[in-house]
Amino acid sequence: MNQKELIRKKRDGEILTPEEINAFVRGVTSGAWADYQTSALIMAMFINGLNSDEQNALTKAMLDSGERLDFSDVDAPVADKHSTGGVGDKTSLIIAPLVAACGVAVPMVSGRGLGHTGGTLDKLEAIAGYNVNLSTEEFKRTIKICGFAMSGQTAEIAPADKKIYALRDATATVESIPLIVASIMSKKLAEDLDALVLDVKTGSGAFMQRFDDAKKLAEALVKTGNAFGVRTEAVISDMNQPLGKYVGNALEVYECVKILRGEADAQMQPTLELSIELAARILVLCGIKETISGAKIQIQNSLDSGAALEKLRHNIELQGGDSKICDQPDSLLERNLICAEIKSEVSGFISEIETSAIGECVSGIGGGRIKITDTVDFAVGYQCEKTIGDEIQTGETLGVLHCRNQNQLDSIGEKLAGAYKISHEHNQNDSRLIKEIIGS
Ligand code: URA
Repeated sequence: MNQKELIRKKRDGEILTPEEINAFVRGVTSGAWADYQTSALIMAMFINGLNSDEQNALTKAMLDSGERLDFSDVDAPVADKHSTGGVGDKTSLIIAPLVAACGVAVPMVSGRGLGHTGGTLDKLEAIAGYNVNLSTEEFKRTIKICGFAMSGQTAEIAPADKKIYALRDATATVESIPLIVASIMSKKLAEDLDALVLDVKTGSGAFMQRFDDAKKLAEALVKTGNAFGVRTEAVISDMNQPLGKYVGNALEVYECVKILRGEADAQMQPTLELSIELAARILVLCGIKETISGAKIQIQNSLDSGAALEKLRHNIELQGGDSKICDQPDSLLERNLICAEIKSEVSGFISEIETSAIGECVSGIGGGRIKITDTVDFAVGYQCEKTIGDEIQTGETLGVLHCRNQNQLDSIGEKLAGAYKISHEHNQNDSRLIKEIIGS
């Protein structure tokens, strides 16, 4: 069947066979499918949906378009965590050393931030010298020595997804659950994992804002992971406000190091709580512990003993970074920034936060990317002082903007203050950090 016939078949709502989906993905990778033809088929998939056989066939074909890592010579269970992305979402830098300290090997392949959301690679590059462009050999070597490595996706992993994702981005076809599942899982399955924990965010700063959509995505991701033989679970977590205290690359690394040093303050507690939840689930899926409560105790021990901090130090040294941040987290913070308090103009209770607006503000002053080619200022960011449900008085501080100059403050100060909705009454919105667990 040629390109036009395949497009017509899906356009007319018919089911594609695994062979047809394979031929499509091979054609995308080889260049036999022109961008306009790929875009047309993707649009037909977007509109008519994919059943679970088609979704699995697409996942497999995209996985097979590239290389797979091989950890058969690693004498430990291999696991990873993937987040659908959010604002202040920094748990990877805590979870990887925590679970590595408990005997799990973690090949963390991460991405960059775009728009209002941050990316782990940008956070890591806030550590002077840290190399996020490891070759496959360096990546494997680092995992063998210290239990985890964090690096960008090589061109060899799921190259079909790279092409298809770029076209989805340009043709308004990103928001389709089967296409998202195939995209995420083709990359994660290439990591040769025994277990995978997904952090699916929901709320005003999430990719899937509505809980029902996040749940559907979580269920589809879990089903696919398990169908491919990877023990997979999802945690649906709150993104109705930034996670923890800081938004911004160096500030977020600072928060992670403070947590690993056992110095978390009250605003950092949600980051710690979510990290422990996700890390404990990895231990159980890997068979290291039988129960979540037992796993949480082991995770807490690796935090309290300093073992997880030492794992981070070792990893930073192996990846070329300056590990003095483990002893002096303050060295991550630039001294010559303006720290401007964002104040409330009214009294009441914080009932909602437009989380994506906070992410956009930080990106807007260089802390993230508006377009993929933008360069990032690692130092700037936002410090959250008040959270949903807190009472606030007129003139009290909502948060602190860490910026370079008065122009930056003038450009986003109002938008930051406007991101907070303040009501007269204390309402009973669902403020739970962990909304639901989706198991196999
Ligand atoms: N992240 C991905 O990697 N793929 C998608 O389709 C959406 C989010």
